[in-house]
Amino acid sequence: MAEAAAKPAAAAMPRVTAARLTAFAARAFEAAGLPAADAKIVAGLMVDADLRGSDTHGVIRLPINIRRLKAGGNNPRPNIRLIQDKPAAALVDGDNGIGHLVMRFATQSAIEKAKKQGVAWVGARMSNHAGPAALYAAMPLAHDMIGIYLAVGSNNHLPPWGAMENLLGTNPIAIAIPAGDEPPIVLDMAPTVAAFGKVRLKAQRGEEMPVGWMIDRQGKPLTDPKRMDEGFLVPIGDYKGYGLSFVIGLLAGTLNRAAFGQDVVDFTKDIGQTTNTGHAIVAISVEAFMPVAQFKRSVDDAIRLMRGAERLPGVDRVWLPGEQSHLKAQDRRRNGIPMPKPLRDSLDAVARDLGIALLD
Ligand code: NDP
Repeated sequence: MAEAAAKPAAAAMPRVTAARLTAFAARAFEAAGLPAADAKIVAGLMVDADLRGSDTHGVIRLPINIRRLKAGGNNPRPNIRLIQDKPAAALVDGDNGIGHLVMRFATQSAIEKAKKQGVAWVGARMSNHAGPAALYAAMPLAHDMIGIYLAVGSNNHLPPWGAMENLLGTNPIAIAIPAGDEPPIVLDMAPTVAAFGKVRLKAQRGEEMPVGWMIDRQGKPLTDPKRMDEGFLVPIGDYKGYGLSFVIGLLAGTLNRAAFGQDVVDFTKDIGQTTNTGHAIVAISVEAFMPVAQFKRSVDDAIRLMRGAERLPGVDRVWLPGEQSHLKAQDRRRNGIPMPKPLRDSLDAVARDLGIALLD
């Protein structure tokens, strides 16, 4: 139960305000060919991810996105549009644009449809990596809607249960549910014990991985992140995590004619290649079920019931999904986003390469 304690804030780490980081990211994307308005949107969403504490899926992914744009792997000026359109369902073609732009469009479409129909499911194809799942699941909250987001991960590191061929990704799912006085519930998770971004972060920091994140080809624990390509991620709950990854892949990939299984392109390695990443977003209007205020009161009650549950010895606090991210966002909005040296160096390298001003 050690993980029940809040993750400590990075002590004595240099920090940068969200506004400065957003301005830098927007400069970089514009220099890489995006229209100014799109560059701002992508930058804003990436920094939102950092604000929520997503150190593995925020601006740390800026360099790979810029490399992909420069290599022709992503389209800087996509024509993102609905290619199938029913009252409560639609399919978006992202025209190989940056995933953030595609998923923002898809989520806005789902919200507009759910305002009329009570619920809407919008799929996306020809997209790319879009950051943490919570970004999109949480967008319907402002409209008193529940959001559910699914995606096909942008590289395969998970074999079918019992096999040793990496045919599945860390296909994430996020579910966001509005509350009243309490922070919203935002469950955002990969179906593996650790998302692969966390393995990369360990490698970048020169740290060992805990036992249980990865196994090698003998099924033995693999803890050296430098050997990440020799092993496999471990699914949560054994075959259940494998099953979850598989069905998310079918719903976010296959249903949208997007890549799944052996067709998944590793967006970090094959940087000049189209990934045809698939996602899905569902928006559900609370009002279609009950008065919004009543629902939010009931969610608050449920949250307090969980939080007030009798705890195991040594546990200080019961957390709700999304609560630690919510507190991090409050801290980071006030005090800035931690900027470890390897991240700072990688952003400086991007700036020099693009000939733009460094992050100030
Ligand atoms: P975590 O294991 O860090 O967290 C999973 C969920 O559990 C979060 O909602 C978290 O809330 C909640 N949680 C954590 N600790 C507790 C606790 N003690 N009590 C109750 N709830 C808790 O996430 P993962 O490693 O599975 O995923 C990391 C990120 O990687 C996600 O944002 C995911 O979307 C992203 N990802 C993206 C992929 C892509 O291709 N785009 C692929 C795979 C992953 P809280 O946020 O408050 O900590």
